[in-house]
Amino acid sequence: MNQNPYSYKVLLIWTLMKTHYYSDKIIEICSHKHLVVDDIYNELIKDYPEAGKSSIYRNVEELSKKWLLKKLIWVWKKTYFETNIWDHIHIIDEKTWEIFDLDLKDINIPNLPKNFKINSMDIKLIWEFG
Ligand SMILES: [Zn+2]
Repeated sequence: MNQNPYSYKVLLIWTLMKTHYYSDKIIEICSHKHLVVDDIYNELIKDYPEAGKSSIYRNVEELSKKWLLKKLIWVWKKTYFETNIWDHIHIIDEKTWEIFDLDLKDINIPNLPKNFKINSMDIKLIWEFG
């Protein structure tokens, strides 16, 4: 087998650089929003027209593994990303599918067992704003 270790190292360094190259911009784009990768990509190529979609996928997944982005997998099988990494409730407008954040402290759940401590949650409320 003909392998050139120098080329492999260059390729590895280049891949690592590409993985982190767009991170700051992705975090900026996702700030206060819930976006799918296509949305992030469409916004990012305005500043980085050379960006490849697979590179953006890698960056976004990497950021979610580092807890810099939160990954939301929805019942309709779309995956959204957001910078609000803390536990919170999602309210979804059924007409527009726009997603809003709500802090847990803002709602009252009266039927929880006594001394029940919430360690994590995934609550989605889908309704029509009237
Ligand atoms: Zn959210």
